[in-house]
Amino acid sequence: MELSFKENVNAMVDGAIRVLGLDEGIAKALKACNSVLKVQFPVKVRGRVELFTGWRAVHSTHRLPAKGGIRFATFVNQDEVEALASLMTYKCAIVDVPFGGSKGGLLIDPTKYNRDEMQAITRRFTLELTRKGFLSPATNVPAPDMGTGEREMAWMADTYKHLVPEDINFTACVTGKPVAHGGIRGRTEATGRGVQFGIREFFRNTKAVKAAHLTKGLGGKKIVVQGLGNVGYYASKFLSEEDGAKIIAIIERDGVLVDKTAGKKQGIPVEKVHQYMVEKGTLKGYSSAGVEFLDKKAGQKALEIECDILIPAALEAQITKKNAKRIKAKLVAEAANGPVTFEADQILKKNGVTILPDAFLNAGGVVVSYFEWVRNISHIRFGRMQRRFEEAKGLQFASALERLSGKPLRKSVKEDLASGPQEVDLVRSGLDDSMRLALQEIFETKKSVKGVDDYRTAAYVVALDKIARSYLDIGVY
Ligand code: GLU
Repeated sequence: MELSFKENVNAMVDGAIRVLGLDEGIAKALKACNSVLKVQFPVKVRGRVELFTGWRAVHSTHRLPAKGGIRFATFVNQDEVEALASLMTYKCAIVDVPFGGSKGGLLIDPTKYNRDEMQAITRRFTLELTRKGFLSPATNVPAPDMGTGEREMAWMADTYKHLVPEDINFTACVTGKPVAHGGIRGRTEATGRGVQFGIREFFRNTKAVKAAHLTKGLGGKKIVVQGLGNVGYYASKFLSEEDGAKIIAIIERDGVLVDKTAGKKQGIPVEKVHQYMVEKGTLKGYSSAGVEFLDKKAGQKALEIECDILIPAALEAQITKKNAKRIKAKLVAEAANGPVTFEADQILKKNGVTILPDAFLNAGGVVVSYFEWVRNISHIRFGRMQRRFEEAKGLQFASALERLSGKPLRKSVKEDLASGPQEVDLVRSGLDDSMRLALQEIFETKKSVKGVDDYRTAAYVVALDKIARSYLDIGVY
């Protein structure tokens, strides 16, 4: 029998619990989901009353608020929401974001409703969450996930504001809002950007690269990506446009685009493909030189294409015991949550495939959510106080250099020196730092802790060690 999503995550976490030799009681408490809310509420849609079901699971509250996205999909269930909430706990600990873990889901097919209907449904769900104590800037802060985005977050924030206007921090009740409504620049791209920063840091470690049977440098590496949603799109765009990697296949719901030259030329142009998808809602019919469209049947098989890096950026349980032995990628970079099952993880490991685990690699979203939350509770945009000050300092420095050298500086150099950081620069720098430090900690743990021989276990050891410490130091209340 297949393990459920939650059982899969727990089986992986057990490996780290054994390594740490954690007390059984503490281990049980760490894995347990603290609370789950299930709501069923009616909304009048096109003259008829429809019943909707949603969940919000809080895995841990050792730090508050508990944090994590809300997905709108036809397949959400309590087990999945609990599994995802626990992943949020570990994720936050790994990248040092001071939040507990939570996740929510609403059983819905968003394509079946128009904008006004979606708004009514989202607002009513928000009311349920708020009234039941599962939404507030201090205790539980949702964010976008599958099927949700800025639009839904803006509705949620506005609903909360109307319900609790005396909460001066009301904008911080959700993250991933539009910039015009309290969001932060760089949040939309954040998860994909974090995947890029994480992979870049991996490639900076020559020993790790060699051990993964890869050659030096990200440039020219052949990548297969599954899912061109928010995460897959930005990750593959940045890796190809900024790091020179080649996207040789894009797997989507309705088919696959394959680079016929297998990376000998420039690879698949991600931006063009994405624009096409946004316009047409499908990959079908896309054509450009050297790119071939294969229909849906080729989807699962395409995961097995020979490549350097496979980036599953769509759903959970995509690599299972059924296809794991045929995966030919050297590195599996988990941009989605839970794309590799526990059994598949064991098979890949045995076959020498390296995995950069979800709980580390896709944490960029929550890192920037943290920045957005801090911006909201401090009620000021990052950079507002210091940008012009830093520009003036830079200009003084440039003038001093010119005086000392007796030569004028090149215009571009002078401009560089005299430009203060904008919010998006600070966000990217903070994200880069978080991803780098986290992977360095994972590298160090893998090297120095006995019994740790893969990055997933190392990442969970890092996370559990921090979380358990909070239990052990403060005690159980
Ligand atoms: N839904 C995203 C995730 O799975 C983001 C969560 C957040 O920003 O709170 O990590």
